[in-house]
Amino acid sequence: MTRQFFVGGNFKMNGSEKAITTIVDNLNKADLPKNVEVVLCPPYPYLAQVVAQNKQSTVKVGAQNCYCKASGAYTGEVSPDFLKDLGVDFVILGHSERRTIFHESDELVADKVKFALEKGLKVMLCIGETIDEKKAGKTLSVCQRELKAVVQKVKDWSNIVVAYEPIWAIGTGLTAKAEDAEEIHADIRKYLSTVIGKQAESVRILYGGSANGSNAPTFKGKTNVDGFLVGGASLKPEFADIIKSRQ
Ligand code: PGA
Repeated sequence: MTRQFFVGGNFKMNGSEKAITTIVDNLNKADLPKNVEVVLCPPYPYLAQVVAQNKQSTVKVGAQNCYCKASGAYTGEVSPDFLKDLGVDFVILGHSERRTIFHESDELVADKVKFALEKGLKVMLCIGETIDEKKAGKTLSVCQRELKAVVQKVKDWSNIVVAYEPIWAIGTGLTAKAEDAEEIHADIRKYLSTVIGKQAESVRILYGGSANGSNAPTFKGKTNVDGFLVGGASLKPEFADIIKSRQ
């Protein structure tokens, strides 16, 4: 099974009109490999700008969140319909910062995934354990719990990309070793195959957590690491090196 290499750039709450113009401009000029799917996820106010500015056919645009309702009295929330309207293709859901800072439950994340897919968005579904859960040997059970909530509501996984992002590695400069990531990714795929069957073979599983231009090549040859979800380094020129790291 060959799964297309995938690199997402999660800008988080960073940037400005000027800074984001520069990032997209640099990517437009870069000689990007044609066989890598790239998704840029700027903050909501810059989505339309990035959609309009992007000239690379392999680069798509994603939002960092959305709600599980189409419209109505949900002050401050964003409908998947708005994202579709703007030409956005993807949405990140279940990011650990949403789960921890904004108290999003597994159930809410699952509702959002289901609704976003129904509205025609593709989803980057984030899962991963805290340092305490890791120390307690609960990495896989946490990932399974987070996945199970979605499995119970979604049968077709063809438009879901899973991002395994150990919370202790996010924004900390600590990266999971490529061998360790490969092992947990393989376990995640094995679990998925027990609950969604053969589809699990084609679900891409990304690694996220301090991925950068220097460590990305160390994941080469890890057959269950199908790409990266990149935070900090997606704002820097080295993002292009991560995109090229599997060539
Ligand atoms: P990081 O963030 O690359 O800055 O660690 C990754 C993420 O949170 O998606």
